[in-house]
Amino acid sequence: MREVEILIIGGGAAGTTAAETYRVGGGQGDVVIVSDEAHQLYSRVLLPHAAKGKISPEKAFLKNEAWYAEKRIELMRGRSVLRVDYKRSIATLDGDEEISYKKLLIAVGGKPRAWQMSGADHADVLQLQTYEDAIKLRERLVPDMRMAIVGSGFIAIEFAAACVEKGVKATLINRGPHFWTSALGEKIGHAVQAALEAKGVEVRNGAKVAAVEVEGGISGVTLSTGETVPCNLVGVGIGIETPMEPFGDLRGTQGLLADAYLKASHENVWVAGDCAEYDDEVVGFRRVVGNWANAIAQGRHVGQALLGRHEKFVLLTGYSTAVFPGASLLFLGESRMLPEAQRYERVLEDGKKIVEFRTLGGRVIGATLLNAVDQRAAAAALITSGVSVAGRESDLADPHVPLDGF
Ligand SMILES: Cc1cc2nc3c(=O)[nH]c(=O)nc-3n(C[C@H](O)[C@H](O)[C@H](O)COP(=O)(O)OP(=O)(O)OC[C@H]3O[C@@H](n4cnc5c(N)ncnc54)[C@H](O)[C@@H]3O)c2cc1C
Repeated sequence: MREVEILIIGGGAAGTTAAETYRVGGGQGDVVIVSDEAHQLYSRVLLPHAAKGKISPEKAFLKNEAWYAEKRIELMRGRSVLRVDYKRSIATLDGDEEISYKKLLIAVGGKPRAWQMSGADHADVLQLQTYEDAIKLRERLVPDMRMAIVGSGFIAIEFAAACVEKGVKATLINRGPHFWTSALGEKIGHAVQAALEAKGVEVRNGAKVAAVEVEGGISGVTLSTGETVPCNLVGVGIGIETPMEPFGDLRGTQGLLADAYLKASHENVWVAGDCAEYDDEVVGFRRVVGNWANAIAQGRHVGQALLGRHEKFVLLTGYSTAVFPGASLLFLGESRMLPEAQRYERVLEDGKKIVEFRTLGGRVIGATLLNAVDQRAAAAALITSGVSVAGRESDLADPHVPLDGF
């Protein structure tokens, strides 16, 4: 059986950054990254640009063969880890190959949630998660096509923007009562929807796809409302899920469990990036964070831990999208609307400039800024300071109360 010093499962932003940090920091052990994708590290952030034809797809690649060789990082591409035996420190790959490790990082990101719908496996039902997805979208988005977009989150917005760019008519189908219900309040939701509509994207709220109509190609989708939306492409953006199956008892509610150090409960095992459900001391509870800056920062943090540093990961990162004019969104802290949280909407300019705060247990745990990037520092400070807003929550919605007055 092969024995390695550092085994990293997942060759995305988090895994590759950890490997690089370890090596650049003087780590001398052998480093092996197992990736079930066929490629070296590429930027998912650039995929929508590649799909729209704004950059050549190759531009998305961030590392080349020479880089891995120079850094003495072995990338096993197109290989999957199927299970890990933490007691014996052995990972089993497809083909029953076993690798024993001294230290293990799990950085497996997320996979698009399966769309449970007859016809979901049709070739013209598209995702936007991988390099191959972006290439396919780029090829299929030609004038005269029509796309139905399922979902109203970040990826759905990217599909819509790509359609607008390529002159493809798009209808977005959202099952919630208003746009992006899982993350946005009504006011920001309406503003974002208006920005999409201004660019010709149609939006159906409170509607689910009941059936995909297939006659050879796709001819339309029938909605729960009875309406049939004619289309020949379907873009699915209904969220991602952590691949939990290979990782046994690290399975959490949304990701793989880690403490505030990004350390798993097993000896010499860490978790980083989109898949980490870690104790986030910034907001005061355990959660997953899915953005590029966080994946890089956590990868760097674990890279240092592999070199022996023992420190908590305490960082507030943000996630932004500005693909539709007038709908520049920045998410800070917890972006989902947790059932037990409260929401306060501070309208700075009706329908145009809004800051939405989410509170839990008397403190601010998240903020969403619509066209209000100038409020970033103040909103971030409210989250990171952990200051109590108990009893004054409604002031968060009052634009006359300065944010630095809490
Ligand atoms: C289209 C798109 C656009 C985005 N745009 C933005 C943006 O503008 N701003 C932003 O902040 N974030 C953006 N994101 C999110 C950002 O890209 C992710 O947060 C980041 O890539 C996560 O990095 P990661 O290393 O944790 O996971 P990933 O990049 O998902 O890497 C994990 C890797 O592990 C592999 N893997 C999974 N299971 C196994 C296994 N069992 N064995 C071997 N390999 C496995 C996966 O296939 C994958 O290659 C975007 C994401 C997408 C899809």
